[in-house]
Amino acid sequence: MDHRLRRTRLAARLVELGAEGLLITRLPNVRYLTGFTGSNGQVLLTPGDAAFFTDGRYTEQARHEVPDLERLTCLDGFLEPVVEAARRLGVRRLGFESDGVTFRSYEDLRASAKGMELVPVGGEVERQRWVKDDDELAALERAQRATDDAFDAVAGRLRDGMTERELAFELEAEMRRAGAERPAFDPIVAFGEDAAEPHHEPTDRPLSRGDVVKMDFGALVDGYHADMTRTVAFGEPPSQLRDVHDLVRTAQQAGIEAVRVGATGAEVDAAARSVIEEAGLGEHFTHGLGHGVGLEIHEGPRLGRGSDDALPAGAVVTVEPGVYLPGVGGVRIEDMVEVRRDGRRAFPRARKDLFPT
Ligand code: ZN
Ligand code: ZN
Repeated sequence: MDHRLRRTRLAARLVELGAEGLLITRLPNVRYLTGFTGSNGQVLLTPGDAAFFTDGRYTEQARHEVPDLERLTCLDGFLEPVVEAARRLGVRRLGFESDGVTFRSYEDLRASAKGMELVPVGGEVERQRWVKDDDELAALERAQRATDDAFDAVAGRLRDGMTERELAFELEAEMRRAGAERPAFDPIVAFGEDAAEPHHEPTDRPLSRGDVVKMDFGALVDGYHADMTRTVAFGEPPSQLRDVHDLVRTAQQAGIEAVRVGATGAEVDAAARSVIEEAGLGEHFTHGLGHGVGLEIHEGPRLGRGSDDALPAGAVVTVEPGVYLPGVGGVRIEDMVEVRRDGRRAFPRARKDLFPT
């Protein structure tokens, strides 16, 4: 990971942002710019310099992970050391991440940084993170592989009476066995009519013949999140859901094929949504088509109605249409897709069939 290059790119934006320095407080952005994986760290970036701040728990870790920056261990909060460093570096207009501070921390910063102008900066590092480099794509591939392996392992293991919670636990265990640091998020497992809830929390509901099984899960590997949904049948599902599965699969394929350099999030969303609308089920597709994924499970670009995010080569987005029928069940199918100069590439190896085995 070329953290220096990333910092150089960001520093080159400072003039346009109207800031002479930028304080990075959102942890995924700190990690992106430095490689620091701990839970408490900040970066102060100026055109020619950068300083890294952490607390005593991470002094040693930061020595390994952030060897190329001036590092300050702060025993009593970051505020005073950060402001002092900004003054030392001659910063008069200090940018801060408007999505990365609380009202209170903003007030504290304003009180400490007297004489300095504070400039809110929104989504700057996040926008840079849309485009993944080769190392990031490789990490996402490893995360996907662990996700695929877990799916393969559990697909043949569905049994009468197992609960949603048990299956969620098995998915998690199999992802860890396949190399995940941990799940990218708590797995969503929904049986039968529970699948009508897009984000169902697993319960003790037992599996029985005729249920659909919706699994939305992913592995976290080297800080990168995989995100995949499969909906399979256990026994013979209601014929209505068979049809819905075919429909969602067709819609997903249309969405994937609409992923290309320059397409907007709204255009890709419409490509999939129109398939579901033409079948008369538009009102049952109740969420956006997808989202970027990387150091965070939900990041840009966003695929959805009203999104004018234009897809660049190197972005990785999910394509995840769903149809949810209250009282009956639901189907969602989700893949991560890389935007390529010459088209697109879907990450998963896992099959999408209603009957996977
Ligand atoms: Zn998902
Ligand atoms: Zn997703």
